[in-house]
Amino acid sequence: MNPPKFDKVEDMADLTHLNEASVIHNLRLRYLSDMIYVRLFLVAVNPYRSLPIYTDEIIRSYKNKRRYEMPPHIYAISDIAYHDMLQGRENQSILITGESGAGKTENTKKVIQYIATIASDSTNTKKYGILEQQILQANPILEAFGNAQTIRNNNSSRFGKFIRIEFNSAGQISGANIERYLLEKSRVTYQTPEERNFHIFYQLLKGAPSAIKKKFLLDGSLDDYRFTKHSRKDIDGVDDIAEFEILLNAMNIVGISEDEQVEFFRIVASVLHLGNICVTSGRDDQAHILDTSVAEKVCHVLGVPIDAFIKGLIKPQVKAGREWVAQARTKEQVLYSIEALAKALYERSFGALVERINKAIDTPSNKAYFIGVLDIAGFEIFQTNGFEQLCINYTNEKLQQFFNQHMFILEQEQYKLENIEWDFIDFGLDLQPTIDLIEKTKPVGILACLDEECVMPKATDKTFVEKLHSIWKNKSPKYGVPRFQQGFILNHYAAKVEYTTSGWLNKNKDPLNENVTKLLAHSSQPYIASLFSDFLGDTTDYGTKNRVKRGVFRTVGRRHKEQLHSLMQQLYSTQPHFVRCIVPNAKKMAGKINTPLVLDQLRCNGVLEGIRICRVGFPNRLGFVEFRQRYEILAPRILPEGYVNGREAAHKLLEAFKLEGNQYRIGLSKVFFRAGVLAELEEVRDNK
Ligand code: ATP
Ligand code: MG
Repeated sequence: MNPPKFDKVEDMADLTHLNEASVIHNLRLRYLSDMIYVRLFLVAVNPYRSLPIYTDEIIRSYKNKRRYEMPPHIYAISDIAYHDMLQGRENQSILITGESGAGKTENTKKVIQYIATIASDSTNTKKYGILEQQILQANPILEAFGNAQTIRNNNSSRFGKFIRIEFNSAGQISGANIERYLLEKSRVTYQTPEERNFHIFYQLLKGAPSAIKKKFLLDGSLDDYRFTKHSRKDIDGVDDIAEFEILLNAMNIVGISEDEQVEFFRIVASVLHLGNICVTSGRDDQAHILDTSVAEKVCHVLGVPIDAFIKGLIKPQVKAGREWVAQARTKEQVLYSIEALAKALYERSFGALVERINKAIDTPSNKAYFIGVLDIAGFEIFQTNGFEQLCINYTNEKLQQFFNQHMFILEQEQYKLENIEWDFIDFGLDLQPTIDLIEKTKPVGILACLDEECVMPKATDKTFVEKLHSIWKNKSPKYGVPRFQQGFILNHYAAKVEYTTSGWLNKNKDPLNENVTKLLAHSSQPYIASLFSDFLGDTTDYGTKNRVKRGVFRTVGRRHKEQLHSLMQQLYSTQPHFVRCIVPNAKKMAGKINTPLVLDQLRCNGVLEGIRICRVGFPNRLGFVEFRQRYEILAPRILPEGYVNGREAAHKLLEAFKLEGNQYRIGLSKVFFRAGVLAELEEVRDNK
């Protein structure tokens, strides 16, 4: 519908006919010409190949440029954020969202690369100072331990992160801090045959020097360990051995000593051994560990005594009334607690790794401002959706709410500032009802209800969902009861999602065998002991009560909610910039763009909604001077000779153009136009 002149426009608000079809058409044409970025807010389409658009030269060309001077690029957003920070003395955030494989992490790296380049101490002759290098090298470390190959992405981040880059008042980088959200720890013990465990498992088993393998008794290969043998072993085009070298190099640059490095590998080794403990079931249905050789390896690596370890697993002490009694476990129970332990070890060590990196890069001095970069998974809507999806979708609901408020309220505030005629529109995009349903405590929302059931002695997943129905059924338009499954339906911003609630109580409580965690807390290996120090304390009290009192025991849902609140608080204190990443096709292929798939993402991430707002509002604006300079030739001799003030001139010109009154507004310093009007004027101007 749009004249060919508007093919491949940089800013979608310039399209005369602004609708889904024209937006996707434009995106597609641009994409096929390797122009992967488009504006309205920044949209980035994954090219699935390396484009020559991230060179030092291009970085330089974006430095200090005005907003619309250069084509859209992740560097343009980074530069704007940096500038606005210094000029407006305000913290900034860059929110990068999108589906798995859309390019969030790649774009995050580009932001950091850009900022590290332009904000490096200029007296330094090297390209990056040591601090900048350390910040850049944090990433390969995080990726080795926190990323994995999945069906959708060969390097999929299985955790979310918020990286704050701190600056001194002169605008030089003074430090950084990484906050981590939700690690998909279930991957440690289970992967589908098309996917892999976290990269480090493969890197270590393939690439570690024999001294390390010997130290941790790793005499097998990937096929010998239960937690790796069912997975894929290789990723196309990736050399795990070379990646291991990259990891070691990164750790060295960050300043993690060899002794410390080994401790992180200790955890990986112990997890591998844990998976191989052979548990059998006796006639009495009780669990046995007849062959103790693997358990001995585990205990050697973890620094705990073997007898107490095995006893703690198969016949733990539990509290019965006031007494402590030994209670025999079934094979399934023991396997469950071994896997829970493996996951806890890995997750806690990942947390410690992030802390260790922060210790290197988070300097206490000179923090005047920050730019925060958020790289977090977008809405997940699968065939079956569980507790993990609820946590992710809850996060996205909050981020979308933030986006809506920013976009729609700020835009309208601009109109008010310019004093143009405008009735405030409520776009009906308040997502608070859905958010309340998840996080409220009065009436009891989903997370609070789950927490309550977690402390009820006889509660089950079923009683949980029944209680939820009794509170919310027919009470909220955002809540629904599914016809067939045990679960509930939530009306999210992106879509209606049906959740299955099996296993939720356990996932939320995330229980560990405390007989064993106590042993770990007293491990002869200081690193292991430090990871479980929250289980230290009164040796006769094996219960969780103690920990509740000390405030350490928190459910998974509650912890996530608290973290999310802290994130939102920070975001609301910044000036945000939004980057929407788009995966072009499901085949990880370059040069192919699947229209329905892309359209669906544009819908989910608010791009189409943003365009709808643009259509009712006045998305294009031009200062009086520029307007006159550019368009006076469309109505020559209209303006009288001599001085005319800008507003008056704009008024006269617009009248002469015979535009419908509703197509524009004249503000205090600018003329505002409906979408497409300016483009039409351009068309006429070109034909002159
Ligand atoms: P996940 O949610 O799974 O972590 P993601 O959105 O972080 O996904 P990335 O890991 O950033 O996705 O991108 C997936 C892959 O796509 C990259 O490994 C890379 O091969 C390719 N890719 C993404 N963006 C670009 C880009 N701008 N240039 C070249 N390749 C890219
Ligand atoms: Mg990622």
